[in-house]
Amino acid sequence: MVDLPDKAERFIDWYLAAVEAAELTDKRYEVKGMNIWTPYGMQSRRALDALLVREVERIGSRAIEFPTLIPQPQFEKEKEHVKGFDDQVYWVTKGGASALDIPLVLRPTSETAMYPVFALWVRSHRDLPLNVYQIVSVFRYETKTTRPFLRVREIHFFEEHTCQADEARATARVEEDLAAFERMAAALALPFAASRRPDWDKFPGAHYSIALDIPVGQGRTLQIGTVHHYRENFSRPYGIQYEDPAGTLRYVHQTTFGLSERLLGAVVAVHGDRRGVVFPSILAPVQVVLVPIAAPGGGAAPVEAARGLADRLRDRGLRVHVDDSDERPGAKYYRWESRGVPLRLEIGPREASAGTVTAVNRLGERTVLGPGELDRAVADALSAFDRTLTARAESAFRSAFSVATKLEELSGSTTVRVVPWCGQEACGHRIEAAIEGGVLGTPERPLPVDPGAPGPCIACGERSGARWVLAGRPL
Ligand SMILES: [Zn+2]
Repeated sequence: MVDLPDKAERFIDWYLAAVEAAELTDKRYEVKGMNIWTPYGMQSRRALDALLVREVERIGSRAIEFPTLIPQPQFEKEKEHVKGFDDQVYWVTKGGASALDIPLVLRPTSETAMYPVFALWVRSHRDLPLNVYQIVSVFRYETKTTRPFLRVREIHFFEEHTCQADEARATARVEEDLAAFERMAAALALPFAASRRPDWDKFPGAHYSIALDIPVGQGRTLQIGTVHHYRENFSRPYGIQYEDPAGTLRYVHQTTFGLSERLLGAVVAVHGDRRGVVFPSILAPVQVVLVPIAAPGGGAAPVEAARGLADRLRDRGLRVHVDDSDERPGAKYYRWESRGVPLRLEIGPREASAGTVTAVNRLGERTVLGPGELDRAVADALSAFDRTLTARAESAFRSAFSVATKLEELSGSTTVRVVPWCGQEACGHRIEAAIEGGVLGTPERPLPVDPGAPGPCIACGERSGARWVLAGRPL
């Protein structure tokens, strides 16, 4: 039982060790950046997908699924988009021994797969809005060092695509998606910043991009999702038009909303500690582990009590495991802690006869539950754990930002910086060089620090048009 590397000092080493200890993924597959989802990892992925589906269907999106391969001419119709993905795509060029007449792209994202078909689906104003999503693998030939969940070549990807009648309705859809994400993030206890990316960093082909970033300590940030407004940038090349009530043909305005397995990486990064992963209960493959502790010389009462309680908790819809293996209790505690289980229930002979359990949550808080209505007491203890986890994450989030008004303050920054910027690209790049990271963009939501009115641009000193932007070091 050794503690993991220090999270603050050696974040990536810590992250890799935490993922490894929790057995969320197996990296031994022979293609770099393509990992195996283990049974334990798969359970958390399914719980994550269920949350995304719940929230996106609540705002009227319906599931679809498109093929994985995209014909080259279709892929190349929107010029900026192609340029943005050109060096990242995998090509399929042969069928058996013969070269394909038309080479195929393994989707890096699905705009170019879907939009020629959207042109067939959308004909009249009655067909709008079109709000659809899919959860599929996408493929990107990543050249930087790959990391489980954070940077991979086969990505477990959620993508929503919508067609709206006009720009205002597309803007409203962007807001609906952001609100849906707020609910997802709250369930995962993940406070986030939403920033309108500077033009040089927006999605290829987008009118604007709003990125969702999570501070992960020492001024580092993790982009965990994006919402894009495309205006007519794709509907024109792909011919997605509808007849309005007056009989005029108009191009639709489109939006997309993308998330991925990075959310799981973010949960590990934000909540994890020196013992490993800490899951919020909604994502935990096992929410409650019961550890019966037999007295020396035997007696089956603890095991029987554990099994009976486990059945009642399953009836409540909880994901439960009874660890009645012959390992020592200490080894069991360690294993389930490193796997991030929110709540452990210890049942010895004394508890078994009293009808109580000793509950220890993943943050180390210990209470005795019962007797009577044990299953409800356990469910309440899980909710209390989630509230504590949220409070802890919010407190870390508040201290992850600070204001800077001089370029020299950016070097070696251990927080995400809130800086005044005039809006000129050259100044943006000077900020990026100074912080050795990126301008994340203009905040779309109130920040945990209130910087007041912006002073002159941190790079050139220009007063007019200065606004606050976030700058950090993206992982
Ligand atoms: Zn400037």
